[in-house]
Amino acid sequence: MSTWRDNLRTIEPYVPGEQPNLPDMVKLNTNENPYPPSPKVVETLKNFDCDSLRLYPDPNSQVLADALAKCYGLQSDQVFLGVGSDDVLAIAFMTFFNSKKPILFPDITYSFYDVWAELFQIPYERPALDDHFDLIPEDYYKENGGVVIANPNAPTGVLQSLDFLRDVIEHNRDVVVIIDEAYADFSGSSALELTKEYDNVLIVQTYSKSRSLAGMRIGYAIGNPELIRAMNDVRYSYNSYPMTRLSVALGAAALEDEAYFRETVAKVIETREWTKKELKRLGFSFRDSQTNFIFATHESVPAQTIFDVLREKHIFVRHFGQKRIENYLRISIGTQAEMERFIRETEQIIAQNR
Ligand code: PMP
Repeated sequence: MSTWRDNLRTIEPYVPGEQPNLPDMVKLNTNENPYPPSPKVVETLKNFDCDSLRLYPDPNSQVLADALAKCYGLQSDQVFLGVGSDDVLAIAFMTFFNSKKPILFPDITYSFYDVWAELFQIPYERPALDDHFDLIPEDYYKENGGVVIANPNAPTGVLQSLDFLRDVIEHNRDVVVIIDEAYADFSGSSALELTKEYDNVLIVQTYSKSRSLAGMRIGYAIGNPELIRAMNDVRYSYNSYPMTRLSVALGAAALEDEAYFRETVAKVIETREWTKKELKRLGFSFRDSQTNFIFATHESVPAQTIFDVLREKHIFVRHFGQKRIENYLRISIGTQAEMERFIRETEQIIAQNR
């Protein structure tokens, strides 16, 4: 006997990268930031009023909503907060995608999108990326129940232009278009300004990558107050206190240190550019990544071999094994020293397996 809902018996859960804990490991498999959170965050944590944890948090997480609004020049009612952007995206799916028409997102993108669609029984279609891993605009002109675009896309790392996004939004004025900007801070481009022009656009961002706070689980959406109100109504219908007191305090503290944020993002980008050159030298090819990872394939050595041997050496990268990208590895950008070790080991693997 199964007590599961019928459509969930065969659901394929999204399996994130491993979270091993070895003293000498180089962890390049889940796109975390290799640098610690800002000293302001550390100071706030040290001075945190632990007695306050007896009490439930503010259900509106107002301090953090206000801090984010100030940071982006918005009103607080344009900001929705969640427990990581996964939570924010899942609530957006629940709130906006209930139509009988399929929602659209590309086949290859963040693999949680199909999991949520299955979970919430939302029909979906996945137009294929072109041969260069770009989205094809016309694929998003057909009638649909909503559109989701990760920009830059994951795991490909490819950035679509603002003109591309504008074009897709113009063709989809009567549904919600979600733009998942988990990696946008590493690309120098964001579609945030489009929320001023279009009331059907929801931008989703996270503290997990550029703000070095994956462990706190803080994500947010920015959009028209009507979209935000709808999401809050859904959210409070099942979880009245989404953000902890600690995540609110640390999230607000991180925003106070813009200089640190810029500095760590610049360091990751510098190391990314160095790693690209080294990977090219070793015979890898890839689209020009605009994220904190590189999605690369080698001209002669299979991705699985490189993945396995690196793993034995406690260097963790990501291999998806999915059709069309089975020969690719997604390599997060670590510190310069970590990437040097990764390149040294990879060079040896290639020399031994050519
Ligand atoms: N969107 C994309 C495209 C991602 O790669 C990730 C990270 N796995 C997320 C959203 C979720 O990130 P988080 O829940 O840590 O904010």
